[in-house]
Order: sequence, then structure tokens, then C-alpha cells
Amino acid sequence: MSVRHSGIGMTSDRTRARMIERLREQGIRDIDVLSAMSQVPRHLFVGEVLALRAYEDTALPIGFGQTISHPYSVARMVEVLRAGKPLLKVLEIGAGCGYQAAVLAKLSREVYSVERIASLLGQARRTIRELRIPNIKLKHGDGNAGLPEMAPFDGIILAAAAERPPPSLLTQLTDGGRMVLPCGLGESQRMLLIERQGDAYHEQILEMVRFVPLLPGVA
Ligand code: SAH
Repeated sequence: MSVRHSGIGMTSDRTRARMIERLREQGIRDIDVLSAMSQVPRHLFVGEVLALRAYEDTALPIGFGQTISHPYSVARMVEVLRAGKPLLKVLEIGAGCGYQAAVLAKLSREVYSVERIASLLGQARRTIRELRIPNIKLKHGDGNAGLPEMAPFDGIILAAAAERPPPSLLTQLTDGGRMVLPCGLGESQRMLLIERQGDAYHEQILEMVRFVPLLPGVA
């Protein structure tokens, strides 16, 4: 790993342990999710200026009008996606700085993550390379289309809110596959869990959430 942010190494171990305690208090039960998040150095995914705040329970700006997801949102969505079982092939839409992909990589055989903003993807690539995470493939593109060439996926997770579940993503789930996404506009977003069973899709509405919108096209 690089010496980037090395000055806060000790501090970040302590603050990361506190973040995990907080996630437990907030109701995250999956010990594998908590363990993955205790291993991923979240401060390396935000700019140096914000590194000291990386473990606060908040979304932080990562440039280009985007944010690194709230630790609780990452923990909760990954917990719901996994349902206590290891994942094989996962698709994430909205790589952003790559943090959630790094958490998913600890819990899955392969992670594919699509990001529409090329410069953000460049930053994520650098961090993932520095951390030598071998099982993440980052792609530049519009996640609304998914990644048909790599489908099907047993897990699909969206880091940006869709008005409704994108139809091409539904078709890229395996039979038995699960998709977790923030859905709806503005103030009225809900987290949805969709499970595919053959040609049927069972939908469950979970808690209220607040995410940036899923936008069309690439930038
Ligand atoms: N996964 C990130 C969260 C990033 S915020 C984390 O771990 O913190 C959501 C990201 O979704 C933004 O970077 C945004 O650019 C991206 N996004 C929005 N619409 C998209 C689309 N159609 N395809 C791919 N990425 C998209």
C-alpha cells in the first residue's frame, strides 16, 4: 500500500473500530459484513482532506457532485443482498470511489462495478490497485443497461436511486438471484429487495433511504 494518509494510520484503526460498534448498535447483525467493513480502509477512498472524517456516520463528497455512501447504507444493503450466504458474481451500479465494491469483494468471488463518470472511475481504479484487490472489475458505462456480457449475477446492488427497477438489470439476475436498490424520487426513496424465481420477481419494500439519483448516459 502507498504511504498516502499514513499519518492517520493508528487513528483510523481506532475510529474504524468505533464505526463497527456503531453499525452493530444500528442493528447490523451479519458478522461477515461487519468483519469486511472492519478490514477495508475507508479513509483511503476519500480525499486526504476528508480522511479524518471518513469513519463518521455520514455521506462525504468525493467530487463531481457525488458522495461516498453512508457506512450504514453500505452495511445494510450488503447484509440484505447476502442474506447470510457467500456471493459468487455480483454487479454493482455506481462504483463512485470504489468503497462498497471493496467491501463486496471481501464477501464475493467476483465483483463487477459500473460507473458513468470516467474521472471518478479513474480514482476508484487507483485506490483498488493500491489496495491490491484482485477480484473487482471496474467498467465505464451506463449502469441502466447492466453488464450483459458478464450476466447472470447472483447479486445486483445499486448505489444510486432508480425511479423503478431497470428492466435489463432484472433479466441479468440468476434464478434465485437478489437485487437491492434504492427506488423512488427525492424524499420518498425506499430500499427494495427483489428476488428472482424463474420468471417471477418478488419484491419487498424495506426502510426509507436517501441516495443520489441514477442518471442516464455516461460522463
Ligand atoms: N458505491 C459508492 C457510492 C457512489 S454514489 C460508494 O461506495 O460510496 C453513486 C454513484 O452512482 C455515483 O458515483 C454516480 O456517478 C453513479 N451513477 C449514477 N447513475 C449511474 C448510472 N446510470 N450508471 C453508472 N453509475 C451511475
